[in-house]
Amino acid sequence: MSAQIIDGKLVSKALRQKVAAEVAQLAQSGVVPGLAVIIVGEDPASQIYVRNKVKACEECGIYSEKYALDEDTSECELLELIEKLNADPKINGILCQLPLPSHIDENKVINAISPDKDVDAFHPVNVGKIMTGSYTLAPCTPAGVMELLDYYGIDPAGKRCVVVGRSNIVGKPQAMLLLHKNGTVTICHSKTRDLRSETLGADILVCAIGRAKMFTADMIKPGAVVIDVGINRGEDGKICGDVDFENAKEVASFITPVPGGVGPMTISVLMKNTLAAAKAQNGIK
Ligand code: NAP
Repeated sequence: MSAQIIDGKLVSKALRQKVAAEVAQLAQSGVVPGLAVIIVGEDPASQIYVRNKVKACEECGIYSEKYALDEDTSECELLELIEKLNADPKINGILCQLPLPSHIDENKVINAISPDKDVDAFHPVNVGKIMTGSYTLAPCTPAGVMELLDYYGIDPAGKRCVVVGRSNIVGKPQAMLLLHKNGTVTICHSKTRDLRSETLGADILVCAIGRAKMFTADMIKPGAVVIDVGINRGEDGKICGDVDFENAKEVASFITPVPGGVGPMTISVLMKNTLAAAKAQNGIK
C-alpha cells in the first residue's frame, strides 16, 4: 500500500494561522513581535527566501524590517548593524540570511546576534540549550520536521530514528530534537560504513544530505516514516529530495514529498520562533 503523504503546505499554513492568532492576542497587551531580516549581496535564492520571510511576517501580523546591504559591506558594518538591532526594543528576532560573502566571517556574525533574538538558533548559547533540552528557540528546519511528526501523530518515543547528515543547521539539531522526544537516535554521515544497514533499521528516517534521490526503496524498512529534508535538482532539471520518492512511497508508511514537505515548514517555524522570542523578552509565558 502506498504511504500517506505528509503535506507540508497544509501543516505550515495551520502553524502560521496559529501564530497569527497568538500574535493578535498578544497585540492586545501592547506587544507586537518584530523581526529584522538582513541580506548581504544579490544571491537570487537568498533574495527569494528573504522576500518570503517578510511576506510571512505580514501574514502573521509580525512587524518586520528588511536590511538589504551591498555585496561589499564590510564585516565591521554588518556587526554594527547587528549591535544596533540587539539594542532595539521593537526587534525581538534577528535573522542574517546565509551564506554571506566570503570576506565576512559567518561565525562572527552568528556569535554577534543576541542569543535571545537568535531566531535561527545558531548561536552557541542556543546550540547548548538544545543539547540540554532547555531551549525556547530551535533551528527552523529540524523544528519544522518535529511539527510535521506531531501533526500526523507520529511519536518518536521508543522508535529507532536514523538521521543521515550531521550539519550544524539540520542533522545535529534534528538528532537532539528526536532524542528529547525519546527516540533512539543514530546519526549517519559520509563516513558511515554500510549506510543501508543503518537506514534499514529506521522506524523514522530523516534524510538530510543534499544528494538527489540517493535513498532508494531498498534502503527503507517497510512501514517506516520517511522525512526528506534534501533540496536538489534532479537529472531532469526538476527540484527533488534526497529520497527516490516514487519508489520509496510504496515501502514507507508516511513520506514527505519534495517540494511540499519539509520546505514550507521552515518559514512558519521562523514565525513561531519570533513570537516565542517576543514573549520571552516580555516575560510572557
Ligand atoms: P551540508 O551542510 O552539506 O551537510 C550534508 C551532510 O550530509 C554532511 O553531514 C555529510 O557528511 C552528509 N553526507 C553527504 N553525502 C553523504 C553520503 N553519500 N552518505 C551519507 N552522508 C552524506 O547540508 P545541510 O545544510 O545539512 O543540508 C542538507 C540538505 O537539506 C540539502 O539538500 C539542503 O538544501 C537541504 N536543506 C533544506 C532546508 C529546508 O527544507 N528548508 C533547510 C536546510 C537544508 P559529512 O559530515 O561526513 O561530510
